[in-house]
Amino acid sequence: MRLCILASGSKGNCTFVEGENTRILIDCGLTKSEVERRLALIGIEPSSIDSILITHEHSDHIAGLNNFASKYECNVFAHPDTWAAMENKMEKIAPTLRHDILSHDFEINELGIESFDLSHDSAHCLGFSVINAGRKISSATDLGFITDDIVRQLADSSVVILEANHDPKRLMLNPRYPIYLKQRILSKHGHLSNKDTAESVLKMLGYGIRGLICAHLSEENNTPDLVISELNKIVAKNGGNLAKEIRVDIAKQDTIGNLYRIKS
Ligand SMILES: [Zn+2]
Ligand SMILES: [Zn+2]
Repeated sequence: MRLCILASGSKGNCTFVEGENTRILIDCGLTKSEVERRLALIGIEPSSIDSILITHEHSDHIAGLNNFASKYECNVFAHPDTWAAMENKMEKIAPTLRHDILSHDFEINELGIESFDLSHDSAHCLGFSVINAGRKISSATDLGFITDDIVRQLADSSVVILEANHDPKRLMLNPRYPIYLKQRILSKHGHLSNKDTAESVLKMLGYGIRGLICAHLSEENNTPDLVISELNKIVAKNGGNLAKEIRVDIAKQDTIGNLYRIKS
């Protein structure tokens, strides 16, 4: 499998995943032309994208979906509540390309897809695992809290993409964020803090996870250094050594991330 996060954060999210014969995106939150440009950076023809999985209807996840999916005739998979919430922005996508996610597990050609519910202030929000040739990669962003079931879902993946949105102190001190927005981000339907993420990663260690990509970082209320130091602190406090256990990476907003090759 190959994996590349094309963009991550509140200005747009899009992840490229490739199996033996099938290429998909998770979310399409950049403009069509920007998705095209970023795919070209890893040598991928946009017309080779078979399908797009949608996590939820917030614009940072679907901004380019209508134009991209209709131009390249991609199958789009979303929860029925998500379709209902974004219906009026998707007029170019033909009915034959629209697919409801009705059960948690389904297939796109040779790719096994497992979806799981996340708590977020959207009509519905899903995380996804993509499985191919005995390998699994999982992605969970835009969630207010994380359950042990989600941790178990992620833990046996080769690579996990997990939100590390904010440092709560930095968020609370940010004068540009109104109080309602701070409350929304900190709520059970908002976003994971660095501490939430680090505590979840601690629970995952030893189950098969080899790579962690921290994602959806707030540009104002977080930094890669804060994420890494929180991870190191919490793992070290429990007697572990993060760098020895897994490779940790940070997804970026303005540029594509590393291209991962996950061998079976
Ligand atoms: Zn988002
Ligand atoms: Zn969201």
